[in-house]
This record gives sequence, C-alpha cells and structure tokens, in this order.
Amino acid sequence: MPKESLAAKTARAVEILEALDRVMPEAHIELDYRTPLELVAAVVLSAQCTDRRVNMVTPELFKAFPSAAHYARSTPAEVEPFIKSLGLFRNKAKSLVALGQALLDSHGGEVPTARAALEKLPGVGKKTAGVVTIHLNGDPAFPVDTHVQRLAGRMGLAKGKTPDQVEAGLQQVVPQAWWTKGHQLLVWHGRRVCHARKPECHRCVVATRCPKLEVRETPKRPTRASKASRTPRRGRP
Ligand code: SF4
Repeated sequence: MPKESLAAKTARAVEILEALDRVMPEAHIELDYRTPLELVAAVVLSAQCTDRRVNMVTPELFKAFPSAAHYARSTPAEVEPFIKSLGLFRNKAKSLVALGQALLDSHGGEVPTARAALEKLPGVGKKTAGVVTIHLNGDPAFPVDTHVQRLAGRMGLAKGKTPDQVEAGLQQVVPQAWWTKGHQLLVWHGRRVCHARKPECHRCVVATRCPKLEVRETPKRPTRASKASRTPRRGRP
C-alpha cells in the first residue's frame, strides 16, 4: 500500500464509515440492557462469548439481581446457576459479585460513567470500560474488540499488537465525532461481512476504499447461470 498522509487516511476513514452507516444505520450494541448496571454486567458476561448467548441468560439474571446490592449480598455460587451456559461462568460469577461490592463501596451502588473509574472495577478491562462509557454518554472512546482490531488492520487505518495501540491509532485517524458510531459499525461489519476467516470482499460496500491488507479473499460463489455457461453441453460442439 503506498504511503498515505494522515489527512488522506482520515478522509478515507470517514468515507468508509459513511458508507457503512448508509447500509447499516441501525448498527448498535447487540447486548440487551435497560440500566447502566445491566449494561456493565452484560458486557462482563460477553467476554469470549456471543452476544446472543448472553442475551439468552440475562433476562432471568437481571430479574434476580436488580441492583448492585443484590450482587454484593450474594455468593458466586448463587449467581452461577443463572449464567452456567456461558463460558468462564465461574469467573464471571465471581466478577459480578465483586463488581456489586465495588459499586456499593465506591460509587453508592451506581455505575460510574468515567472510563478511568470503570477500569478499576472487578472484571472490567479497558475494552469493557470503553464499551460501557460510550453507551452511557461518558468519556469518548473507540473501544477495540477482536472485530475492530481485525478491520482496522485490514483497512489500513490503524495497526498494533494490542487493543490499546489500535485504539490510539484509530483515535489519531478518525474524528472524535465518529468514535462511538465507528466502533458499532466496525463490529457489525466484522460480524456480517468482513469475517475473520472468510471476508466477503466481493459484496463489501467499502471494497474500493480498503487495501485488504493480509486478506485472502473468499472467491465469489458461482451462480447457476455462470456455472451453466462454463459447462459444455453434451452433443454440442
Ligand atoms: S474489502 Fe474485504 S477486507 Fe476490506 S473491509 Fe471489506 S470485507 Fe473486509
């Protein structure tokens, strides 16, 4: 890929996000939640697990544990049955109980919106804190999960070995007004088109603006018509 100035990269990043926004204006976090506590709990549960699986267990969990005090008063063994279909459920149950205790001890039972305060909570890493803060209108952030990291690299927008490095790169290139929506759009595009193993570049709306770095494109599936045109018919020259 030829060297690109920061201004040119920013312009290309905005074009990419505008194009994705045109086809997926509804892109949003796919975890179900109604309150800040439900949001942070759902994001903690989503580690190494699909949002769909998390959404299957949270209605009953949230009914049984409606406040930070409910988690704080419980033992991990009491939380486990609600989330046992999720990977790492024992650790996650411990995190939820510790989270409830920390929220009670340091934040009056409320979820803080500042990213730095969120990062100090048990079970909440930098990415989780970023996802929570942008959905609570807290600090600006461009949280980097596996999809965002993969797409930022393929699109040549930001590279780095760690999510922190990629986030710093994205924040340099992408105007802040696009950070929240940009995160949501890249996650959606990564789940639907730019898959980890088989990116579908042939049907990607940003293909002309993407250098496809380190991508081995999935060949387009032949249609019935194109197959027929390649197959010689019997009895004909
Ligand atoms: S062109 Fe390919 S690599 Fe680039 S964003 Fe689209 S699907 Fe991903």
